[in-house]
Formats: sequence, structure tokens, C-alpha cells
Amino acid sequence: MSDRWFSKAVREPGHPSAHGYDGEAEPAPKAGLVDHSAEGPLSVMRRIIQAPGSPSWTFSNPKAGKLIQHYPRGTHIWANGSKMANVAFDACESEGMAGEALTDSQTQNLIDLGRWYVECEGWQGFRRQIEAWEHNEMTRFGAAPTACPSDRIPWDIIIPALEEDMVSQADFDAFVEQQKAINDFQNKALTDLKAAIDLLSGIAVKHQAEIEALLAAQPK
Ligand SMILES: [Zn+2]
Repeated sequence: MSDRWFSKAVREPGHPSAHGYDGEAEPAPKAGLVDHSAEGPLSVMRRIIQAPGSPSWTFSNPKAGKLIQHYPRGTHIWANGSKMANVAFDACESEGMAGEALTDSQTQNLIDLGRWYVECEGWQGFRRQIEAWEHNEMTRFGAAPTACPSDRIPWDIIIPALEEDMVSQADFDAFVEQQKAINDFQNKALTDLKAAIDLLSGIAVKHQAEIEALLAAQPK
């Protein structure tokens, strides 16, 4: 399993006590990532993430600049609304308020983040309500109803970008299969050729013996 800290994110650890549950090992494999709207500016997000006993989340997605990672991937953060949702999923809070569209760099950050999770967690893809979730969809895991992230996440951009990755992966796998088939074919041709050479040299040796026997039989 690769590193639990995302190389494209700035590392700003959250409060060391603000995560986890008795009897739940950490870090643990995660089934998905839950997106949130922070409903506030980065300065407030930073204050909350540093406070003991406060909500906590894995990544902050600022309006400008790189993602900020607060806990190792797989930590049971406290943002998704229920223990079940916090244990099953990681969380990303995007800076800004309801009604504000994500900035282009925020959207790109979420694409990069989804890609990293797919690679690290071995997910089949980044599909809505399978690996890619919104906070308001956590009610089925015991969370209270919420509007979060208030339709701020541009899934119409994020999901196709990651689907393209999966297609390229399928293309790559097909290419590797094809190369293997060609390789197998070449190896078999070489084996056949070697067998033919062995056969021919066997015949030559046999004929040589016959010729020598004939020559020996010639009257001198
Ligand atoms: Zn939320």
C-alpha cells in the first residue's frame, strides 16, 4: 500500500486526539471519500482542525493552492455524521459557502485526490455513491440529514475525468495482453525452429555415417 500522505498535498496535522473510535483499528482500508462544503473560510477551518474534540476531516481543499492533508489516509475522522460513515469513508472539506461554485483549482484538486484514492485503495473506480459520496448521502449510514455540500461539487467534471483514467488503464491492460501474446508466439516459433535444426543435424549426422560406410565399402 502506498504512502498515506498525498504527495500533492501540504501536510498540516490536525489535533492528535480528534479522530478514531474504541475498537476500530487505524489506519484502515476505506470504501470511499465523502465531500463536504466547509461553509467557511480556510482560517476558520484551520482553527477547528487544531482544536481537541472538534470535527475533523482528512483533507481541506482551499479556494487557491494545494490540498491540505490533516490525517493519514484511512484515519477515522469525525465529519461524515455517524461512526459508521466515519469508519467507512475519509472526508474532504472544500473551502467556501453554499451557493459558491468550486474554483477551477479546487475541482482539479478533487480530481487528483480521487485518482490518488483509486490507486492507493485499489478501488474499481471513482463512481457516485460507490466510492464518491456527498455528506447528505450519509443518512443511509446513520448520519443526520444535511444539505452539505449544497450541490457545490461538480461531479459532471470530476467523474468523466476519472473515467478517462479507467479507460486508459483498460487500454493499457489490453496492450500488455497483446504484447504477451506476440511474445508467446515468437517463443514458440523459436522453439519450433530449434527443433527443426536439431532434426536436420540429426539427419546430416546419420547421412554422414552412411556416406562413410559406403566409402569404406569401395574397393580400393
Ligand atoms: Zn459536511
